[in-house]
Amino acid sequence: MKVHASAGNENIAMVYIVETSSGHLVECVESVQPPLPREKKWVLLISTMFGCPIGCLMCDAGGYYHGKPTKDEILEQIDFLVDKRFPDRNIPCEQLKIQFARMGEPSLNPQVLDVLQKLPERYHAPGLLPSVSTVAPAHTERFFDRLLEIKQQFYRQGHFQFQVSIHTTDIKLRDRFIPVNKWGFAQIAEYGERFYAMGDRKITLNFALAQGMPVDPAVLLQFFNPERFLIKITPLNPTYRARENELTSYINPVSGDQKYEIIQTLQDSGYQVILSIGETEENYIGSNCGQYLRRHLSADEPIEDGYTYQVKESP
Ligand code: SF4
Repeated sequence: MKVHASAGNENIAMVYIVETSSGHLVECVESVQPPLPREKKWVLLISTMFGCPIGCLMCDAGGYYHGKPTKDEILEQIDFLVDKRFPDRNIPCEQLKIQFARMGEPSLNPQVLDVLQKLPERYHAPGLLPSVSTVAPAHTERFFDRLLEIKQQFYRQGHFQFQVSIHTTDIKLRDRFIPVNKWGFAQIAEYGERFYAMGDRKITLNFALAQGMPVDPAVLLQFFNPERFLIKITPLNPTYRARENELTSYINPVSGDQKYEIIQTLQDSGYQVILSIGETEENYIGSNCGQYLRRHLSADEPIEDGYTYQVKESP
């Protein structure tokens, strides 16, 4: 696979701009979560589309769309990252998390399902943990029905992570933030109830929280049973789109022990809440959710709190 450019720090995260076999450029990422060594947890982020047609308000990966990689072009990205570190494809990490989340909405590319079926035989990775995160676009029922079958066949008992990005309980704001037709809360909840089986990880409801985006536990409790759904709250990462849309983060990404009223209220309502702040350095590298190096490379006016690492072109 041809590497066009990269940015990062081998001890935190590396972002690669690579060319797939059809000649398209995509980005993929590998990262660790200090202080955990790579042997404990290694995270790969893979692109499932060339661009993204969804256009979430805070995401630099949206804004253009040039089609979908094939199964092989998705696997090429994983092979590339794996072969750099474990060329015999024996991956002894306690957790190898593969997130289909760098660029693209996975449920709009059925080839993602073929990749999920292939992974267990392609790598010897006892810690394999695929993670599918979706905004649940309309008309994706067939994808999700098959995903459930694949999870049941290959990834039972906590070996799969399923996440739905909701971002707010205010329906109008959710429509503004994720500007496509999508499943309502009732449909997400119904699917989640079918998806979850005893021993599985709870289904994650993601909130990349911007100021002014309500998260009302009363609304969540109408649909999402705290026994099967958990809440993950992340800061709104520094992106060009967030700046354009004048969005600011509710969570302070550099103050790990700050207390937030929303989190307390959710916990009081019975939800498990994960506040996932991660490494600030990842914002500077441009490896965090919603960030996309090629958007940065084409920017006239750089943002200050993200993408500060030099992007090195490959010879
Ligand atoms: S957040 Fe995901 S679905 Fe939304 S525009 Fe970015 S890549 Fe697409």
